[in-house]
Amino acid sequence: MLTHNLGYPRIGSQRELKKASEKYWAGTLSAAELHQVGTRIRQQNWQLQQAAGLDLIPCHDFSYYDHVLDTSMLVGNIPARYTPLVTQNRDATELDLYFAMARGYQHGGLDLTALEMTKWFDTNYHYLVPEFTKDQQFSLFSTRLFNEFNQASQVLGAAAKPMLLGPVSYLLLGKEKESGFHRLELLNRLLPVYELALNRLHQQGAAWVQLDEPCLALDLTLAEREAYQRAYAHLARRCPGLKLLVTTYFEGLRDNVETALKLPIHALHLDLVRAPEQLATVLPLVPGWLSLSLGVVDGRNIWKNDYQASLALIDVAVALLGPERVLLAPSCSLLHSPCDLDLETSTTSLLAEIKPWLSFAKQKLGEVRDLHQLATQAPGSAELLTHNQAALASRRQSARIHRPHIKERTAAVTEANARRQSPFAERIVVQQARLQLPLFPTTTIGSFPQTEDIRQLRARWKKGDLTDDAYQTALRQATAEVVQWQEDLGLDVLVHGEFERNDMVEYFGELLDGFAFTAYGWVQSYGSRCVKPPILYGDIHRPQDMTVAWTTYAQSLTTKPMKGMLTGPVTILQWSFVRDDQPRALTALQLALAIREEVQALEAADIGIIQIDEPAIREGLPLRRADWPTYLAWAVRAFGVAASGVRDDTQIHTHMCYSEFNDMLPAIAALDADVITMETSRSQMELLAAFADFQYPNQIGPGVYDIHSPRVPTVEEMVALLEKAQAILPAENLWVNPDCGLKTRKWPETEAALRQMVEAATQLRQVA
Ligand code: GLN
Ligand code: ZN
Repeated sequence: MLTHNLGYPRIGSQRELKKASEKYWAGTLSAAELHQVGTRIRQQNWQLQQAAGLDLIPCHDFSYYDHVLDTSMLVGNIPARYTPLVTQNRDATELDLYFAMARGYQHGGLDLTALEMTKWFDTNYHYLVPEFTKDQQFSLFSTRLFNEFNQASQVLGAAAKPMLLGPVSYLLLGKEKESGFHRLELLNRLLPVYELALNRLHQQGAAWVQLDEPCLALDLTLAEREAYQRAYAHLARRCPGLKLLVTTYFEGLRDNVETALKLPIHALHLDLVRAPEQLATVLPLVPGWLSLSLGVVDGRNIWKNDYQASLALIDVAVALLGPERVLLAPSCSLLHSPCDLDLETSTTSLLAEIKPWLSFAKQKLGEVRDLHQLATQAPGSAELLTHNQAALASRRQSARIHRPHIKERTAAVTEANARRQSPFAERIVVQQARLQLPLFPTTTIGSFPQTEDIRQLRARWKKGDLTDDAYQTALRQATAEVVQWQEDLGLDVLVHGEFERNDMVEYFGELLDGFAFTAYGWVQSYGSRCVKPPILYGDIHRPQDMTVAWTTYAQSLTTKPMKGMLTGPVTILQWSFVRDDQPRALTALQLALAIREEVQALEAADIGIIQIDEPAIREGLPLRRADWPTYLAWAVRAFGVAASGVRDDTQIHTHMCYSEFNDMLPAIAALDADVITMETSRSQMELLAAFADFQYPNQIGPGVYDIHSPRVPTVEEMVALLEKAQAILPAENLWVNPDCGLKTRKWPETEAALRQMVEAATQLRQVA
């Protein structure tokens, strides 16, 4: 029974790679120095995994930006627009090209846009989307795979297991850049390059190669299944002597079981954390040539493994296949786990208390080794198990986690609690009577530029270098200035600016009971960007008001309506490490009740408009369509519970940062927010047509300009967009706002853009 790992975090436990690459981009670190940092991280990772006693250790799981981009480099899929970079600049290196594809390139008269970035399945990691053309050619381009395998072999000997994204997932994750073909038609051209790469690895001494095929766990068409057959038949035939390990993760195989089990490969990896039930279906069907890799340690979350539960799975597999046909591993790459729990050394933090229940990447390696020891009944097993079960029992019984009164409250939630008192048509009349808004009311999404001053202020206060009083005074001043500034601009519905918030989830996590925070629990989000998700470990309780003081202070400075600003339950859930000891739906409901209390507190403080941001509702959508209705039902209900504890004349807004609603419009409508603001400017209002077709009844604030760029929009273009909107939706349902919060922008462009936006609204009112 071999132990192995699918991939290790590559940012470095102190975010060394982030710091180094940002310096490299700023021109203060040389390429050689950046490579040194990368080499050091790889070596450390390998040594760590070796020390943990794993039999097979991944290499080429490292990346300077993104592993899908690495695959594009390996197979020579460099879109034509990057050619001038190489032809015009003879000094341009592979690294320059690589970062140009990742981040765009504006230099020496060249202006090359980056590859599009999108979410990696249902994680918070983002990859760079491969672009394909009809006459796409592939050829071995980057040699990094081979170099890294060489380096790994030197450190690890035979334990080095090169890994790369499999050919079918690589194609499926990309996009056609012209019409008239499907990217799977490129498979025949792509396979010879994979064949070359694999054989070269074999020549270099590789015994195993790991090919990640996460798409094999998605809903597949017949053509896609057929592509899997074809691809692996080809590789098995042309690369004899190599042991191919195909990995699936993030979902069960379900209806793809047959396809997967027919592949002529050596071993197949299953995610038994996300889909433990698939083992029972798969086992009786496993052909004689195939080994199974059991992903029993959660690569996506931070909880200590339940050895008893994992052993139960391992034992059935071993009983049927024999130990030599079973491999043990984490469920997926540890890329999605923070690096090392040992770095969390504070003894006073809340984390110290819950630490015995946790396991980060490094600890997960130990868990794989422990499970091997247990499964083979090696000496010391009994103590290992007792120790593990004791930790779990302490979590199960902890009064820190379990609050009976919260459980009672969630159990008592009724359908009426998730619904507003009256239908929208009636609510809007009393809201309008109270708010007295003009046609095309103007507003913003919540945050204003977070300047270095503001960041410094928060950082100094957190460190204890600034007293609470001094901090509050400074923030109040910033808030007061921005209220006056919005009045001067002539905006209709104002916001307080969110200067007290570092992050829209962390801010609420810190004020709610049930969350803990790490000091070093960073996870890569994309490129050099890392996030440090809070750990939602216990029943959620709101011991105090969270936003009321800031909102009422801001409201006291103006007669215009001040919009209260909250993060919604689904988004808080989605951007945290959440408990695995109760369904996500239940955790969402607990969060919803806490937000509901805050909404009610704002209403009681006479705040007439409250926005509940839910930018993450869409990314929570399950990977398999069949699971969508269940998810949408509880997600919509959670929002409903958060939003519906108010009178009819309190106006609820929500905000979402994207525009792909087409497949979930009924759910959006079911949220029944009085106003929804969203992104549309980049999609040129196409989305609104879908809302119009759907006869979406409530009010809509289609973002009239893109805040992701410093560009200041013209009045004309915003008027044109709104005229388009007005042509298909009732004018009295339209709001005028940017497409997201402004915290990443600078003040001058923000002021210029909002001035033009107000002018656009004014012009429209004159015509109307
Ligand atoms: N209210 C938040 C802000 O303006 C919304 C951010 C978001 O949608 N991601 O920053
Ligand atoms: Zn947004």
